[in-house]
Amino acid sequence: MRVTRDESEQQALQQLVIKRFGMAAGTYGLALLLTWITVAGGFYQAPLDTAIAGSLMILVSQLGFFWVFSRGYNLRFRDPSLTEPQVLVALVWLTFFLFNLGDSRGSLLVLYVLVLMFAVFLPPKVFIRYAVLALVSFVGMSLYDAYLDRLGDSQVALLEAGVLLVTLIWMCLFVGYVYKLRQRMRQRRFALQAHQETLRGMMRQLEDLASTDELTGLYNRRHFIRRAEAELSRLRAGHQSGLALIDLDHFKRVNDLHGHATGDRVLQMFASVARSCLRDGDILARYGGEEFVLLLPHTDAEQFSACCERLREAFANAQPLDVELQAGHLSLSVGLTLLNAGDDLDESLQRADMALYRAKANGRNRCEASWAAVDA
Ligand code: GH3
Ligand code: MG
Ligand code: MG
Repeated sequence: MRVTRDESEQQALQQLVIKRFGMAAGTYGLALLLTWITVAGGFYQAPLDTAIAGSLMILVSQLGFFWVFSRGYNLRFRDPSLTEPQVLVALVWLTFFLFNLGDSRGSLLVLYVLVLMFAVFLPPKVFIRYAVLALVSFVGMSLYDAYLDRLGDSQVALLEAGVLLVTLIWMCLFVGYVYKLRQRMRQRRFALQAHQETLRGMMRQLEDLASTDELTGLYNRRHFIRRAEAELSRLRAGHQSGLALIDLDHFKRVNDLHGHATGDRVLQMFASVARSCLRDGDILARYGGEEFVLLLPHTDAEQFSACCERLREAFANAQPLDVELQAGHLSLSVGLTLLNAGDDLDESLQRADMALYRAKANGRNRCEASWAAVDA
C-alpha cells in the first residue's frame, strides 16, 4: 500500500499525541500514588474523604480526557490538544492536594513546576496565565490558613511563596525563549521550502534545456535515445511501435543558394509542420544536422506508413516564409521500420537508415520501409 505524505504526517502527529497523552496520564498516576503515600505516612491532614475526592477527580478527568482523545483518534485523527485542560485540572488537583497537607505542603512545592512543565510549549501568554494561577493558588492557601489562624510559620510560608515566584518567573522567561526559538525554526522551515521549490523549478528548466534542441525546440538525440529505450522496454509482446529516420532532401543546396540562416528557418519550418501532423505521445527529435527521428508508440505498418506519408506531403506542400524559397522546392525522405518487443534500438535505427538510403537512391521525396519481419 502506498503511504502518502499526508498519511505519514498524520501518523507522526498521532504518535506525538499518544506520547504526550501517555506522559500526562503517567504523571496523574504518580499524583494518585502520592496522595495515598501521604495518607499512609500520616501527612494528610484532612479527612480521608478528601483524599478519595481528590483521587476521583484524577480518575474522572483522565477518563474524560481519554474519551475526547479516543474520539479524535477514531474519527480521522486530529490533535485533540489536551494540553490546556490537562494543565488546568492538574493545577486544581494540586492546590486541593497541597491544601490538605497543612504545614508540610512546602516540601511538595516542586510539583507546581512539574505540572507547568507540560505547558512549556504553549504560547507565552497562555503559560503566564497558568503560572499566575499556580502562584495565586499557593499564596491563597497560605492566606486562607492565616485567616483561619492555623498557619504554622508565616516566615516559612513567605519564603515558600518567594521561591515559587522566582521559579515561575524563570520558567516564564524560558517559555518566551522556547517560543521565539520555535518561531525562528518555523520561519527557517518556510524559507527552506521556498528554496526547495525554486530548486525544483530550476531542475525542471535544466532538464528541459538538456533535452531540447535549441534551434527547432524538438527533443535532442540524447533525450530521444533515452525515451526510445524506455518505450522499447515497455513494449509488450504482440505490440509494435514505429521508428523513422527523416532526412531533408538536397539541404546543402538550400544552404548554398540561400544562406545558412534560410537553412535554419527551413529546419524550424520542418519542426512546426511535423508538430502539426503528430499527436501528443509521438516522440520527434532532431537526430543531427537536417536529420530527424520519429517514434510512434503502439502502431502498425499501415498506420505508421500513412503517418509518415502525411508528414512528407505536408512538408512538400508547406509555404516557406522566405520569399526566395518556393513551395514545392522542399522535400524530405523517410526510412521506416517497426519496433517489436525485445528489439535492439541500434539495430532498429540501422534498419531505418538502410530504408532511408533506399528512399534517397530511388529519387528522394518518398518513404521506404524495412519491416523487420520481412527483411529478416
Ligand atoms: P541529401 O538529399 O542526400 O540528404 O542531400 P543533403 O544536401 O541534404 O545532404 P547532406 O546530409 O550531405 O547535407 C546536409 C547539410 O545540412 C550539410 C550541412 O551544412 C547542413 N546542416 C547541418 N546542420 C545544419 C544547421 O543547423 N543549419 C543549417 N542551415 N544547415 C545545417
Ligand atoms: Mg539531406
Ligand atoms: Mg543528411
